[in-house]
Amino acid sequence: MSNRNYFFYGLFTLLFVVQSVGCQTAGRQTDFIDAAIQRADDDQHGFIQLCLPVGDRRIVAGPSKIERVQRPMPPAARAFDNLYFVGNHWTHAWAITTSDGIIILDAMDNDSDAQHIIAAGLIELGLDPKTIKYVIVSHGHSDHYGGTRYLQEVSGARIVMGEIDWQMIEAKKTFTPKPNRAAPPDRDIAVVPGDSIRLGDTRVELFSSPGHTLGTISPVFTVFDQGRPHRAMLWGGSSFNFGSSRPEQLDAYIDSTRRAIDYVRREGVDILLSNHAIYDRSIDKLSAISATPDMPNPFILGSEAVSNTLQVMDYCAQATAEKWLQTHPKNPKAKQGAL
Ligand SMILES: [Zn+2]
Repeated sequence: MSNRNYFFYGLFTLLFVVQSVGCQTAGRQTDFIDAAIQRADDDQHGFIQLCLPVGDRRIVAGPSKIERVQRPMPPAARAFDNLYFVGNHWTHAWAITTSDGIIILDAMDNDSDAQHIIAAGLIELGLDPKTIKYVIVSHGHSDHYGGTRYLQEVSGARIVMGEIDWQMIEAKKTFTPKPNRAAPPDRDIAVVPGDSIRLGDTRVELFSSPGHTLGTISPVFTVFDQGRPHRAMLWGGSSFNFGSSRPEQLDAYIDSTRRAIDYVRREGVDILLSNHAIYDRSIDKLSAISATPDMPNPFILGSEAVSNTLQVMDYCAQATAEKWLQTHPKNPKAKQGAL
């Protein structure tokens, strides 16, 4: 073969290899989406939304952040004997009541949310915001830590966050704050994998679930439904908004969902919550309870159903990983919804 022929032979071989790898990843991407859709069929959550960035037409996007923020505020409500919802359609906080005060999980966007939604909601529910002892922040994004300063001012509560996320927000401290967003809290209690927080008769385990951020924590605790105990996990960080330039975070996410499935089965976790209602459908479930108080509590789904939902999240993460393989490195930052 002449040099010229070698050149064309080499070029065609290369094109063939590139095309087949492309087809393979596209095929695997569809397989993961198919698997996620199949699993999500009888899912009582909205985590299938995590597959949206892949762009499969079968997955329909829910309302945007703006639409969700502007919707009329849902009422503060009681989900379990010792667990209360305060929030809007975009993001929310959970309040766990204990024998020695309140533990708040996540603090919404800013001081105003903390005052008019979290504190006002607690008062409406007959709870005293001054008795908040801990605010556990799932991860270092402002829509979860934004209200911490206000809550700390009102109650003197300690702020708990993963060590890696404290470092993350500290590194960004010089950034100009966006309108309506409070400054991050000052470093307080930093937790590492395996840590838990105890208050009175209640222990909250902090399951380490890096991915959405590298220091995300997912609190696990006991709730009581008319006196009967159940185990709940709040998935701390959901979307893949870190973008395709950080595939290692997607790998961490996939690893976290798998460890969570083992944990949920082993520990009998039968409730999965979120800090965004689009994922846990908490507002729909609470309005169902309010309409039919005698119905079985719709938050209680059983360990298998919770594992199934975590599997949907895992498949969506894998489908996204396949998509990023196709687009990387030309697409350094995937444009995705910011949760
Ligand atoms: Zn976030």
